[in-house]
Amino acid sequence: MAAPIAKGSGMKQIRDAIVIGSGIIGSAIAFALTRAGIRRVTLVEKGPLVSGMTRRNAGLVHPFQAHPLLCDLANASYDFYNQWAISFGGKSPFVETGAAVVSNFAAPERFAMWNAHANASEIEPAALTARYPNVTDQFRAVMFSPRAGYADAVITAQALVNTAKANGLEVQTGTQAKQIVVKQRHVQGVQTTTGELEAPMVVIAAGGWSERLLAPLGISLQLRFRRGIVEFYEQPPTITHELPMLLDANSTFFFRPHPYHMSAAGRVSLESQTQGIESLDEFVSASDSTSVKQFVEACLAEFANVSTKRAHPILYDTPKDGLPALGRIANIDGLYVAVGFGTSAFAVAPAVGETLAQLLVDGSAARDVSSFSPLR
Ligand SMILES: Cc1cc2nc3c(=O)[nH]c(=O)nc-3n(C[C@H](O)[C@H](O)[C@H](O)COP(=O)(O)OP(=O)(O)OC[C@H]3O[C@@H](n4cnc5c(N)ncnc54)[C@H](O)[C@@H]3O)c2cc1C
Repeated sequence: MAAPIAKGSGMKQIRDAIVIGSGIIGSAIAFALTRAGIRRVTLVEKGPLVSGMTRRNAGLVHPFQAHPLLCDLANASYDFYNQWAISFGGKSPFVETGAAVVSNFAAPERFAMWNAHANASEIEPAALTARYPNVTDQFRAVMFSPRAGYADAVITAQALVNTAKANGLEVQTGTQAKQIVVKQRHVQGVQTTTGELEAPMVVIAAGGWSERLLAPLGISLQLRFRRGIVEFYEQPPTITHELPMLLDANSTFFFRPHPYHMSAAGRVSLESQTQGIESLDEFVSASDSTSVKQFVEACLAEFANVSTKRAHPILYDTPKDGLPALGRIANIDGLYVAVGFGTSAFAVAPAVGETLAQLLVDGSAARDVSSFSPLR
């Protein structure tokens, strides 16, 4: 068990690795680093645990991702979530649903990629209805994977952190990382609002806030912010069968079941929003809500008469090519980033953690993540 660290003591605290940000990505990394045997790991979080965008996200786990490497990371992460009860004991937060991508057009462009990389196959629309009788068979094309589901993102991140704490993870909440300390191109540690942490390895997993830590080093990930909404409905009583996760072929809309006879659905906005992470306003427009409802009704006719019980907006960030930044910052020894996973963050987080742990411990990872190189 690591010795407790006195907050605000003014003394430098010596650590082996520091992770900045306790969203699903930072929590999964902290978990993986302690699991890989790194002894003195500190997780620094400016707010309460899991207080960023993970708190608002839909916790989707599915392989229908935008890049083959994301499909691979999602498939590996599915195994992690699905074996939760074996690894951690207790009740698993993960609910398996299967996922279908539905399209009104024959053979959408991404189906070939998902066929090759997502462990998914195209099925007849009628086959989806046979498996999930409440889902319409009125689509032209359907791709299905049973390897999908969802979990409460906050509970999952907290569970990862708590497990890591049992392995010696030190958590400093209410502590903002102010500056990455770098000398002669080597990371020295992190200056925080409560003191200085000295460590040879620092991982920035601060979501949309990450640019602020990188800017003084002359580094930009060129993050773009997009806005979306998540809506919750009461499930109509006529729904008597299990429901799958449903996605459209452009990855704009999603639907999934939710505990307590509720359902969740959402829209990922296609409009690029250039304002920063602090600019999220809580307004959910009627037209946004209507567009989500139209997708749900097109899939599940019985939802025609349900109304929204609650809704919230959500921001996500990605570098400008839409793919994440994952790996070492090439010109600074010991500085790593795991940022910009957008709507895939929860789906890929465990495998991202494992990959970063390999990079930190061995200097290389089993997966080639060079296509997500931070300064590409
Ligand atoms: C409609 C819609 C649906 C979505 N659904 C999903 C989904 O199902 N799954 C999913 O993964 N994503 C989803 N997203 C995306 C989601 O919004 C985020 O992109 C994702 O949760 C980011 O996770 P993260 O761990 O990278 O960042 P965050 O959860 O934002 O975590 C970053 C953390 O770093 C902390 N931090 C920041 N700066 C500092 C600092 N200087 N010092 C210390 N701490 C700091 C923050 O307080 C925060 O807790 C969805 C988005 C939309 C629009």
